[in-house]
Amino acid sequence: MNKRSYRNIFISILILVTLFLTFFLCACADFSFQETSQTYDNDVREVGLVDKIAYLFPAIKDELVIDAIPALGGDSFLVLNQGKAMLIDAGLDSSYPEINATLRSYRIDKIDVLIITHPHNDHIGGMLEIVRDYDIEHVYMIDYKHDSDNYYSLMDIIQEKNLDITYAKKGLTFDFADASCLVLNPQAEFLKDVNNNSLVFKMTYGEKTFLFTGDMEKKAEKKLLALPYDLKSDFIKIGHHGVDDASSKKFLAAVDPEFAVISSKKNHSYEKILNRLLDKGTKVYITLDGYHIKFTCKDNKIIVSSYESFTY
Ligand SMILES: [Zn+2]
Repeated sequence: MNKRSYRNIFISILILVTLFLTFFLCACADFSFQETSQTYDNDVREVGLVDKIAYLFPAIKDELVIDAIPALGGDSFLVLNQGKAMLIDAGLDSSYPEINATLRSYRIDKIDVLIITHPHNDHIGGMLEIVRDYDIEHVYMIDYKHDSDNYYSLMDIIQEKNLDITYAKKGLTFDFADASCLVLNPQAEFLKDVNNNSLVFKMTYGEKTFLFTGDMEKKAEKKLLALPYDLKSDFIKIGHHGVDDASSKKFLAAVDPEFAVISSKKNHSYEKILNRLLDKGTKVYITLDGYHIKFTCKDNKIIVSSYESFTY
C-alpha cells in the first residue's frame, strides 16, 4: 500500500469516527423540555429544587395534576386535567404573584372551576385579582357572609363580572374534566364557626380519590363521620393548615390517606398532626414557603415531585 492509500484509509476512519460521535451525542442529548421529578417514599421533605428553566410546563391531558402552591401559610391548590383548570382558594393578598406565575407557567388564561372554600383572608386574599384577571367559568362557594373588606370586594367583582355561582352544600355533585366531585360539607344547617362550614369535597379520578378539606375543624369532622359517606381517600389536603383543632384521630383513621399535604409555613404549629400522620405511615408534604409540591395521578398511580417557587 502506498502512502496515499494509507492517508485515504486514515481520512475514512476519521470521517466514520466523527459521524459516530455526532450520532451518539445527538442521541444522548434531550433538547426537549423536562421537568425534574422525583418520587419521595418517606415522610417530610423540604423538597428539592429544579432549575428555573423548567418553568413552562407541558399541557396536562391524560393525567390529573394537583399543584400545591406555596401561599405564605394560606391555601391555594391548582388542579389540572384535559386542558381544564380548577383553582381551590387563592391564599393571602400577597400570594397572588405566586399564584399568577403558576397559572402562567401552565399557560392558563381561563379557570374552569373556581372553588372558594370559605371567606377567610388566607383563602380569598388573592382571589380578587384572580377574578379580575382571569376568565372564570363557574364558581362554587358557600353561602356564608363574612364581615371583611376582602369578602365584600370579592363579592362585588363576582357580581360585576356576572359569574355563575353555585352555593354548595353536602350532597352536591359536579364534574371537573375526567374527575367527579362530591361535596361533603357544609351541612344543611351551617355550624357556628366559619371554618366548620368550609366547602369540603372528595374528587375521584380513575381509581384514586382526593379529599379537600378547607379549614374544617373537629366539629365538622364529627358531623362527616356520622354521615354514610365513604371518607377513605388516597390523598388529603389536611384541614386548617395542620393545626390540631382539626384532623382528629377518628377522622384520619376514616380517611386513611397514603398522601397528605399541609399548607403551612416554617415554624407553624403542625408538629402534632404531622406526627399523627407519620405514625399512621402517611407520606406527608408541607408547602413551606418557597416550594411547590406537585401530585401527578396517571394510570392510577400518584407521583410526587416539587419545584421552586417563582416569586419567594
Ligand atoms: Zn386557612
